[in-house]
Amino acid sequence: MANVTLRNVRKTYPGGFEAIKGVNVDVGDGQFCVLVGPSGCGKSTLLRMVAGLETVTGGEIDIGGRIVNQIEPADRDIAMVFQNYALYPHMSVFNNMAYGLRNRGMKEAEIKTRVDEAARVLELTPMLERKPRQLSGGQRQRVAMGRAIVRQPKVFLFDEPLSNLDAKLRIAMRVEIRKLQRRLNTTSIYVTHDQLEAMTLADILVVMNGGQVEQVGNPLAIYEKP
Ligand code: ADP
Ligand code: ADP
Repeated sequence: MANVTLRNVRKTYPGGFEAIKGVNVDVGDGQFCVLVGPSGCGKSTLLRMVAGLETVTGGEIDIGGRIVNQIEPADRDIAMVFQNYALYPHMSVFNNMAYGLRNRGMKEAEIKTRVDEAARVLELTPMLERKPRQLSGGQRQRVAMGRAIVRQPKVFLFDEPLSNLDAKLRIAMRVEIRKLQRRLNTTSIYVTHDQLEAMTLADILVVMNGGQVEQVGNPLAIYEKP
């Protein structure tokens, strides 16, 4: 586990657009932080900076006591669950989850232990030999989460992972993610534009607007304000 602390983080895109204007956020060990706000407010930019997919032009990003501004994505102890979960269509569920670990040269026995454990937690065990096309949308999304879980990261980053699912499935998966969080207790940062999703999931809610933090705190405290 690890804390994530953003200290006066800024992002000016090449061309001069200031997308993030000095953001301070502190996510404690094992907490689930949701970044919420309208389209274009900078959520994705901020998450991508934590992941190392976007350079930081000001301030510091601290993961577990280490400033990661100059550290490669693969060395940040994070795993990201993407919106377009792009599974390899010709590979089984098992191999989809094992792929990244194999690339890192992990031993096959350790890979099997990790994939089996993730499949158990995600209730995918009976589907391990199936191809993605033989799965429902919710099951595919769970495989995408499995690929992140097997990395055993200190921090999970979620980029609108439910936005491609229909309304009913979205609600079901929201509950599943919450359960998974309680079980794994991994520090998480989750981006969404959906207020209800944010409310359900967040320990800490960060409401963003125009590249800045508008409000931060417990979701009930924020939304119950008159
Ligand atoms: P959100 O995730 O909240 O929808 P983004 O972080 O994607 O917002 O975008 C924040 C702002 O930065 C938007 O105005 C967007 O147009 C701008 N932006 C995003 N990516 C780039 C880029 N590569 N170059 C310039 N501006 C960008
Ligand atoms: P490799 O294992 O060769 O790095 P991958 O396809 O697993 O191949 O990943 C490519 C790059 O993306 C690597 O730097 C890897 O650490 C990173 N990566 C892969 N999957 C994730 C993920 N879910 N979250 C964060 N980084 C990832």
